[in-house]
Amino acid sequence: MRAARLSDRNLLRLIAGVDPDENEDLFALARKARKKHYGNGVYFRGLIEITNYCRNDCYYCGLRRSNAKLERYRLSLEEILACCRAGDRLGYKTFVLQGGDDPQLNDTRAVEIITAVRREFPGHALTLSFGERSRESYAAFFAAGGNRYLLRHESASEEHYARLHPPDMNPAARKECLRNLKDIGFQTGAGFMVGSPFQTPENLLEDLRFLEELQPQMIGIGPFIPHKDTPFGGAGAGSLILTLKMVALARIMLPKALIPATTALGTIAPDGWEQGLKAGANVIMPNLTPMAARRLYALYDNKVSAGDGAETLDYLADRIRTAGFTPEMGRGDALE
Ligand code: SAH
Repeated sequence: MRAARLSDRNLLRLIAGVDPDENEDLFALARKARKKHYGNGVYFRGLIEITNYCRNDCYYCGLRRSNAKLERYRLSLEEILACCRAGDRLGYKTFVLQGGDDPQLNDTRAVEIITAVRREFPGHALTLSFGERSRESYAAFFAAGGNRYLLRHESASEEHYARLHPPDMNPAARKECLRNLKDIGFQTGAGFMVGSPFQTPENLLEDLRFLEELQPQMIGIGPFIPHKDTPFGGAGAGSLILTLKMVALARIMLPKALIPATTALGTIAPDGWEQGLKAGANVIMPNLTPMAARRLYALYDNKVSAGDGAETLDYLADRIRTAGFTPEMGRGDALE
């Protein structure tokens, strides 16, 4: 297997492949690519889930607006800053603020939050994940001090995207957002779920080709996991091994990308994070959201969550060392 440009045929063969030796070769190649650019370091990012209100109605997501069973919350600015302070005391140099597409998280409010965090933590990296916005809004977020933005494209295939989302959402709009973000200067993260309903190997190939074209600095890949109060509540979860293969292929095709071992990966297997790192991931995003809110940020069922204190950080750092990697608390910006 060569890291040089993989043909569609070879990629499809790898995606569909079930030969354990071949999968091991793929993971080894991914580890080599990651080691070349990043060594053995694993970057820690503190995740703060600031609101679970959402105007969108994605069929897979527990935060969808039609989920009337979900109790909704919104952190105040003071609560967000308190999370950042707690994270800073633990040594985090990156804060990731994520939310549902909360109508009250308008530009004024978002800029207020970004400005306040930036003022108090001038040297930290600030990652935002506030969904689809206009180019002007993104530019305002960047000017206020945002450095990075996560917006998974979810599915690059028009047809598959339409089976995961209501008709008022489309992949072209999302791809446009991603291009705007990159253009404005954000370190930009795209990504997708593995094993979501109706997904084919060809869809996954299209996702990889989209990443190759966009060249995002960050790539989030995790298994689909059903949430009981959604239209896909009865569907099966995505497979661990296929998710790992997609992480490895993303690493091989975009060797300099920052790729997290995602929460969803840590949810479907007790050692999901370690396996993700061994398949080429190099980021981990422990949760800093207050415990009471955290259980309400219910994207899918049984979302894993460790504690939030120093013991948890030590525990995670230990797991990472045991897996053969080095915890890194620095900003960990994208290369170049
Ligand atoms: N509103 C923001 C954040 C969305 S939640 C945005 O639109 O970007 C973050 C990610 O969780 C989503 O991009 C999606 O890929 C993932 N997610 C949502 N529901 C999921 C599920 N049931 N299983 C696995 N991942 C899910």
